[in-house]
Amino acid sequence: MDGRFAEPVPESTELLELIHSLSDALESHYDWLWATQRSVVCSEDAVASASCRLDGWLTMAGAVPHEASGAVAQLAERHCAMHRIAAELPRARDGTRIPVATFDAFLAARKAFKDAAVQLERALWNSTCLIDALTGLRNRQGMLLELREEQHRALRDERSCSLAMMDIDHFKAINDGHGHGGGDAVLRAVARLVTRRLRPYDRIYRYGGEEFLLCLPDTEAARAAAIMDRLREEIAAQPMGAGGLCITVSFGLAALDPHRPVEESIARADQALYSAKAQGRNRVVAVG
Ligand code: GH3
Ligand code: MG
Ligand code: MG
Repeated sequence: MDGRFAEPVPESTELLELIHSLSDALESHYDWLWATQRSVVCSEDAVASASCRLDGWLTMAGAVPHEASGAVAQLAERHCAMHRIAAELPRARDGTRIPVATFDAFLAARKAFKDAAVQLERALWNSTCLIDALTGLRNRQGMLLELREEQHRALRDERSCSLAMMDIDHFKAINDGHGHGGGDAVLRAVARLVTRRLRPYDRIYRYGGEEFLLCLPDTEAARAAAIMDRLREEIAAQPMGAGGLCITVSFGLAALDPHRPVEESIARADQALYSAKAQGRNRVVAVG
């Protein structure tokens, strides 16, 4: 909560649009490639008529989930190489024979590009399985893997990491009073607010219905409790969803134990949440 924002996670519909726009951009690149090869081999001057739109997609791809960003960088590099090598190829109309090594380099760049494109598409499709369609948050699917990575980092760097289980209070009454759509809007608003308040390296997962798990690396228990308490106050003060509903949330906190299975730390945060509910809700309780 130091003023920096966690990276926005695209909602799954945005991700699907991104995948479709990538597919269109790749299609335009392959059209350009077709025309380029025709021009190189048959002395047809068709290159100018085929423009490649992939560069535009690559510069607009800011909303790519972080697990796919490496694949975007790799595709951008190979795309650049592909166009550079193609521009340097002599054309048949010049009456120049293309040296075998030069043409092999072009074919190798073409293959490397294709591999990178397949890898990026695969990474984006994988991301769709990791994202909750309603809130755009990461779901439970990849959560344990990411938490185990965080656990290793905490152990290696000898730093504390805290987990917070957050649950909306009396959420059933919101559904009962404002319909499922009203409840959905509240879930989305809470997810958006918390995401904006977290640091870039914090993580929030939709754990279940109206429960969210937050992972706060490099944060010891007392600091995590203070941060969650500020978040709790902000949520209580901020009208949520289309109807501007006032809601409260309860938090259960536990340290991410570097030496025990991650599931045990989650269970401890859940027990603390249970205490927070038993003590009257709208509060933060840490395991003792
Ligand atoms: P408590 O303060 O003890 O947490 O009470 P609660 O009413 O929040 O908890 P309870 O477990 O009784 O009810 C949770 C409700 O959340 C029940 C379920 O129908 C609803 N829910 C779960 N997932 C969704 C969802 O995706 N959208 C909506 N609108 N409601 C959901
Ligand atoms: Mg609840
Ligand atoms: Mg619940």
